[in-house]
Amino acid sequence: MNNIDKNEDFWFYLEPYVYINVIDNQGLIYNTLDSKTIIVNNPIILNLITSLFLKENCGVIKISSADIKNIDIYNFIVEIRKNFMGDIIKINDIDAKPIQIVPLLNLQRDIKRMQKEFGMDYKASDISYINSISVFLDYDLNKSHQFIKYFTKHNMHAKDLGNNIILLDTLWKFLYPLSAYGLNNLEIIICNHSLYTKPNELKDSVLKLAVNSYILLSYNNLSEINADIFKIENLNFKILIDFPVIQKSLKNFIQCLNSENIKRVEFVFQITSKYDYYLSNKIIKENAIKNYIYQPIYTGGNIGFFENYIFLSEKDIVSTPISRREIFMRQVINSFDFGRLIILANGDIYSNLLGQKLGNIISNTVFEVIHKELTLGTNWLNCRSSKPCNKCIYQYLCPSPSNYESVIDRSNLCHVKFEV
Ligand code: SF4
Repeated sequence: MNNIDKNEDFWFYLEPYVYINVIDNQGLIYNTLDSKTIIVNNPIILNLITSLFLKENCGVIKISSADIKNIDIYNFIVEIRKNFMGDIIKINDIDAKPIQIVPLLNLQRDIKRMQKEFGMDYKASDISYINSISVFLDYDLNKSHQFIKYFTKHNMHAKDLGNNIILLDTLWKFLYPLSAYGLNNLEIIICNHSLYTKPNELKDSVLKLAVNSYILLSYNNLSEINADIFKIENLNFKILIDFPVIQKSLKNFIQCLNSENIKRVEFVFQITSKYDYYLSNKIIKENAIKNYIYQPIYTGGNIGFFENYIFLSEKDIVSTPISRREIFMRQVINSFDFGRLIILANGDIYSNLLGQKLGNIISNTVFEVIHKELTLGTNWLNCRSSKPCNKCIYQYLCPSPSNYESVIDRSNLCHVKFEV
């Protein structure tokens, strides 16, 4: 790297892959390629980086020889160059002031405008927002608890919807408009296998909608499972395991998967404590399980477990690079919920089971449901816009708010401390 000649004037710019967030008296400079981070508290430097974003500066500002003699500015520029976040160009070396295309948030369709224009006709292309659908094929109050937990992340009581089985024809009619676009993910939940006995009917209709189709099962329901479900081609399985585990049921279930030669399986360990985590690892080792995830569940009494093992630190937040695209997305949409619908066995539709019902597959079209969520809903567009996150420089580096924030009733699940 060239030495900086303090008798020269320079143009200073930051690279387009560098994300900046300045809030009150603090600034974050973040390299989206390698997650290197510079925190700025010095008012002179804060002033310098905010002036990069003034319209008239087009992302490039002049650093005069007098400026460069200021030790704070000099050290800052050295640090920026060392981290490949930006550079300086001698003014004398070029004819005109360069400009930088400052990346700006530009969603293809402005969702905020849609909100203002509530009442306008929805557009057929809105359907392309749908990315993932989860369908409860049946519902049985006694057996749905584990699946409700999977969606809410909370050990809460399942709603009493009566024992229902979804009307497959009605479901297909509701989902049919999606066939022109296709879905990324389709999750099919079978709570009580003695209620839902015709898995083969699925493959002729809804399963063909999605690139990835999953059946969610509980390890504890093996005795009722219609083995035809394992014979459906290209179908993946998610097996929920909660604690305490009934060892015999789990062994039988794994034996059954092995005997049917089912490889496309992911185990979801619903853990509520460090001890559950330890037991999960034991099960994983003993059964040579290769594909698994842990899903922490809030019980109302295990906040210590969340504080110790789930809450984010500043180091966690910047530990892996987050792309500019992802940062922009987090400014306008909720990356967990956006494009997702959950359909219960009685036909009720939700964007999130902790939120309000959006409609029903019998009485509403998929277009109406999308429009309602985009204009009146609270989940797809739920961003970190409330206190204290809206005063924090990590606001959009942090993942979108999830159901953990809702059930714990705290908008910042982190150890980051700052003045609000
Ligand atoms: S206060 Fe909010 S935005 Fe800031 S680190 Fe914590 S969770 Fe993330």
